[in-house]
Amino acid sequence: MSQVQQVKEATDIVHVIGERIQLNRSGSSLRGLCPFHSEKSPSFFVSEQFQRYKCFGCGETGDAFSFLEKYEGMTFSEALKHLADKAGVKLDSYKPSPEDDRHQRLLTILHFAKEYFHFVLTKHESGEAGRAYLKERGVTAESIRLFQLGYSLPSWDGLIAYLHKKKKFSLEDIRATGLTVTGKQGRDYDRFRHRLMFPLTNHRGQVVGFSGRLMDASAKEAKYINSPETELYHKSEMLFGFSELYQEIRKKKEVIVVEGEFDVISSAQAHVNNVVAIKGSALTNEHVQLIARAAQRVLFSLDMDDAGVNATKRAITLAKDKLDMRVIVIASGKDPDELARTSPKEWRDAVKASITVYEYLIQAALKQHTASTADGKREIIDELAPVLGGMSHAVEQDVYIKRLAAALEVREDLVRQDIERFKQGKQRGTINPKKTADSPTPVVKLSRRSKLERFLLFLFFHADQATLSPKVPQLQQLHFQFPGLQPLVNLLLAAKAPLNLQQVTKQLPSDLQQLLFELSADPEFVQTLDTLEGREDDEWQRTLTDVFQEQVRAEMKEINLELTKLDQQLELSPADEGRQAELLEKIVSLRNTLSAKTAA
Ligand SMILES: [Zn+2]
Repeated sequence: MSQVQQVKEATDIVHVIGERIQLNRSGSSLRGLCPFHSEKSPSFFVSEQFQRYKCFGCGETGDAFSFLEKYEGMTFSEALKHLADKAGVKLDSYKPSPEDDRHQRLLTILHFAKEYFHFVLTKHESGEAGRAYLKERGVTAESIRLFQLGYSLPSWDGLIAYLHKKKKFSLEDIRATGLTVTGKQGRDYDRFRHRLMFPLTNHRGQVVGFSGRLMDASAKEAKYINSPETELYHKSEMLFGFSELYQEIRKKKEVIVVEGEFDVISSAQAHVNNVVAIKGSALTNEHVQLIARAAQRVLFSLDMDDAGVNATKRAITLAKDKLDMRVIVIASGKDPDELARTSPKEWRDAVKASITVYEYLIQAALKQHTASTADGKREIIDELAPVLGGMSHAVEQDVYIKRLAAALEVREDLVRQDIERFKQGKQRGTINPKKTADSPTPVVKLSRRSKLERFLLFLFFHADQATLSPKVPQLQQLHFQFPGLQPLVNLLLAAKAPLNLQQVTKQLPSDLQQLLFELSADPEFVQTLDTLEGREDDEWQRTLTDVFQEQVRAEMKEINLELTKLDQQLELSPADEGRQAELLEKIVSLRNTLSAKTAA
């Protein structure tokens, strides 16, 4: 047995996934909320029997390895090593792929770069500029250590020399980490020079990039430069502080989202240490998924300006089903860094006084428009109707409708009417609710026949072992149309009696295993099965008949089509006439089978 196979055998997918997301038993599988898309009712299934998972909302599917790759961002080798360690399997013959090898090298380069910058800042004499700057901003030694801050020297190739000449990494690998810039003549330079360095880590604490801050306010360069997108660094997934403050975030089940690295550091120093910064101002679906692993509530620190309002609206469309969202409004207009530094208590109080995103949007709209005029009222309603109309909790929605009606001094039922009007899309064209890019892809609608065929096999694979044998010959009369089902049935028919499902399942080729797994975890079927309670065999017979009838009807349809074609011919050859008679006979016989089946 290969080592991969060995680890696979020793691993239970239910355990691997169950450690990370909440799973509940449902029929023969376990289900939970999908970690790969936003949803309210669980459509993520994990099967013990097949050792696979599948989301019926977004379509994600795979085994324990691919789950770790997708969820934890591990490479295959990392996932293998992780699972081998857990299972106590010693890996000796497994060779990582060249891609995994390279991935590991790039991580090592970034790790060394972080150590290098950190060393210069904390130990080296030329790091004095960085130390003085941090001291002035009130950053403590504890924060410098926790966030592994660093300093890049004002030299063109200090880091390259260290990584290439001293640590012997190839220039090609160093380039791939984004730490260098290649000049017109093909020479490589350090990307970060004379800057304060913030290592950017992924959720597993591995350094994947950097943000470098200019220390000289009068310089004409960009205040911040960040690593470019690389195979390891993806801006849309980046939450500064997430891995460093993870324990605290998890403990409080709450996370504060701010804009900059210094906001995070100063806030943590003011003992508000469940805080992260997003790179750039827009919350992404990746951020939401990451946050939702550790927290149930997210607090945004925002101004009451257009940027804040737009960010909030976007956040609502992304995360309203996954996270409870609130807003921290800083009345003085200071940013969290400044407030936390100058009056830490005020910052803590502002956090405690957070308001819901809906209250925030109402307050912002009232501030931006004149609620006392008819025009102002209309503008406010136009702005808020989509937001309030999209709320999924009726009682909560009612609270804000009342609140808005009172603020506008209009009747509540009129506000409700406007929201309804918006929902029905009768608005004068300005508001256009768009489908967000993050909605799961709709599942393809199956024909009635396909659905019945799938359900029939679902019942078969959920039947008691004792009742299986008489069912097998009944399958013989059917021709399955849904792709993959007929080969599956052929294998069942060919299997030795008495049929051992476990054994048949194990020997199936992987595509049929996947098909069978998806079918046996289909949430609609599982739900139906739950309601049968002892009437499983009746359901089997009924479905068998239904499938058969669908099949006969399809055949009749085809024959009728051919007959119509013959009818349309001006002249029939003797062969045509023979065919016509044959078809008519066939149709009569099919009709008889159909009525016999219905009567039975
Ligand atoms: Zn999903």
